[in-house]
Amino acid sequence: MLSNKHVKFQVDSLTVEGYSVAGEETVISIPELNLCFDIGRCPEHALLMDNLLLSHGHMDHSAGIGYYFSQRGFREMSPGTALVPAEFKEKLERLLDIWGEIDGNRPPANIIGLNPGDEYQLRRGLFAQAFETNHSRGSLGYTIIDRRNKLKSEYAHLNGPEIAKLRQSGQEVTYVLDVPLVTYLGDTMPGDYMQLEHVRNSQVLITECTFTEPDHMDRALAGRHIHVSQLADMLKECNNEHVIITHLSRRTFIRDAKRVIKSKFAPEIYKKVIFFMERQKKAALMPDEIK
Ligand SMILES: [Zn+2]
Ligand SMILES: [Zn+2]
Repeated sequence: MLSNKHVKFQVDSLTVEGYSVAGEETVISIPELNLCFDIGRCPEHALLMDNLLLSHGHMDHSAGIGYYFSQRGFREMSPGTALVPAEFKEKLERLLDIWGEIDGNRPPANIIGLNPGDEYQLRRGLFAQAFETNHSRGSLGYTIIDRRNKLKSEYAHLNGPEIAKLRQSGQEVTYVLDVPLVTYLGDTMPGDYMQLEHVRNSQVLITECTFTEPDHMDRALAGRHIHVSQLADMLKECNNEHVIITHLSRRTFIRDAKRVIKSKFAPEIYKKVIFFMERQKKAALMPDEIK
């Protein structure tokens, strides 16, 4: 039952593709932004992204990193850039060195260590902002920011040459507008990150929700994950237009998860929710499950 949890859908102008099952594999790519959040076992769609944003070191999120760099080298693609929690930079470099000794080729790799609050420019006008999450050593979330220069409203009535003239005279005619496009929380418990403006106002929020059963709160706490009843509270004050729920457990059936979430969430929040898990289809079942 592997393939039926691979999903691909459109959220406004973004394609969101990948796979996320708790404890097994998480990898989510967004080709329009040329990035993937976590790498899982490095499926093809993630390999094609020039930027990999790693949330934490758990193997189900990070294992494919060696393959990512090695395959990109093999295919003569650009090396690719991995943004990682700062304390993993050296360790990952060493890991690639050792893989290089085993493989015979040490792939080129651009590994950038980030601390909470750091910002990295992905391309012109597009930035990744790292923030602290509440899961494992150094774990990070990321907000992707579209930074635009906008004309100040007091100059809106002017034509091109008039604006150029003002500019030449040293007048500041534009201001910077940050539009938070997507936030990825990775794995985390609830935490202070929900107070961050760019998280609360992200057009798309990708959040984990590992546990949905009422008696699994203790398991959520032990694993430092989010339980559905906490998610309902977390989302109350947020302005996100879409909330993508990832990292459900393998045992969760989407119809059950939907029912629980519908019962916990206010209708205006529930209607924003998208499950990062395909509806289980008969055709996708393994032969021994087709009765
Ligand atoms: Zn995980
Ligand atoms: Zn984890």
